[in-house]
Amino acid sequence: MTILYLLCIIASQLTVVFSSAGNVWTYKDSLGPDHWHLDYPHCGGIRQSPIDLQTRDVVVDQAYLSPIIFSGYDRAPKLFYTLENNGHTVQCGLNDKTMEISGGGLRDTYVAEQFHFHWGATDERGSEHSLNGKHFPMEMHIVHYNKRYENFSISVDKSDGLAVLGFFFEIGRFNKHVQEIIDHFVEIQYKNENITINSIPLNDLMPARLTNYFRYIGSLTTPPCYESVTWTIFNETIEIAEEQLVQFRTTIFENDKSDGGLPMDITDDYRPVQCMFRRRLYASHPSLKYNMEAGKTINSGASYVLSRLVFTYFVCVWSFVT
Ligand SMILES: [Zn+2]
Repeated sequence: MTILYLLCIIASQLTVVFSSAGNVWTYKDSLGPDHWHLDYPHCGGIRQSPIDLQTRDVVVDQAYLSPIIFSGYDRAPKLFYTLENNGHTVQCGLNDKTMEISGGGLRDTYVAEQFHFHWGATDERGSEHSLNGKHFPMEMHIVHYNKRYENFSISVDKSDGLAVLGFFFEIGRFNKHVQEIIDHFVEIQYKNENITINSIPLNDLMPARLTNYFRYIGSLTTPPCYESVTWTIFNETIEIAEEQLVQFRTTIFENDKSDGGLPMDITDDYRPVQCMFRRRLYASHPSLKYNMEAGKTINSGASYVLSRLVFTYFVCVWSFVT
């Protein structure tokens, strides 16, 4: 009787585990990044993102990495964006497909599909990529699909399917353009809520200087982690005021309104850096090879940064030999 009872409990627990498998993932605990590869095998690949951008290892290629050509980024089309809380981040869908990038070492033209953010609970973390071990409080990704394919869904798992532009944020002046998005957070507090907003020229969200950037081949940073992304991470940061970051940390929830439970803030929605393996990191300008950020990083919290790098190195070696 007792054994049967125990078996029933175990069986019911297994049902919970198996029924939660599939398309459910989080940034922490048993469904967090360390476990993604169990349900999504691509997440265990050798061309994963994000990575730590180590400037001493970059290959500078100015001829190949010419300035990216942005088309339509300066226009505010008289159309609308769809701002959505998808339970993992705040994402802004670009409904019209008039913004494109080409050049800058990209073989094709890529069409802007959406942009979204990754942020941390404190100023010391939040970005997905890091620069010489240093993380930033937030990172924005503008996701593009290859125009050669019909749409984002068809492109998403092709090796040349996506091009993502990544931008680091730093604490600084009030950012009125990002505020246009923050103003709508109250309308999308809960998972699966969305709202139509006036379009914002993407140029207004990006830094002024876009010629200095890093380039590598990687993946989606969320399941299913397809290795389909040509990554471009810009050196110049975007400023945002501390109180604006607090809005990201405290007004967007990961749970559904119908859950009825206590609202849980979306925060620390970033994947840890992945192993570089045999990939190369390229840079568009010689100044990026000996970036001053490296000096700043060593001066501030050198032991923390160093211990992170050593840890990452050993994890990569370990995962390679096992
Ligand atoms: Zn992202």
